[in-house]
Amino acid sequence: MIYPIIAYGDPILREKAAAIPKEKALEELAQAMFATMELAQGVGLAAPQIGHSMRLFVTDCTSYNQAGKHGKMGKQVFINPVLQVDSTTTPDIREEGCLSIPHVLVAVPRRERIKISYFDLQWQFHEEEWTGFPARVIQHEYDHLEGKLHIDYASFLKKGLLKKKLATIRQGKVNVPYQMRFYT
Ligand code: ZN
Repeated sequence: MIYPIIAYGDPILREKAAAIPKEKALEELAQAMFATMELAQGVGLAAPQIGHSMRLFVTDCTSYNQAGKHGKMGKQVFINPVLQVDSTTTPDIREEGCLSIPHVLVAVPRRERIKISYFDLQWQFHEEEWTGFPARVIQHEYDHLEGKLHIDYASFLKKGLLKKKLATIRQGKVNVPYQMRFYT
């Protein structure tokens, strides 16, 4: 199943997502999220972006893996994740996009190194450390579970410049190769 991706303007993207009850079967949802993400050519997708306010996101950085530089992150499912950023590392500022806010790139400072604990689809607990690009993707997706978006990191000036563009997205005037759902 492919879900339409929830567009900016829907209040669900601003909610703090709810913890998922342990042992809940999520295989089908996760598969649908992978399929949806792949079609939209994303590297990460959080459950609120398909209309489920729950603490789950998926990632697939396969196409961005640089020969072992930051460790390889293929397809992964993160359930009830807890993120710890290493605030001793200097933030790295790079432009990010978001499938819910198409064609809007924002320079976002992210920590270079993070630790994340989470459950997988079999409800096995994991604790991992990531650096570089996968760490950035994880921080972006984790933000979605907190109701935070990449545009929140924009400077005051940039926020002003983005106003019109965000209004047009909210109105459904976007041209993307994937289906979106707009808030009415
Ligand atoms: Zn996003």
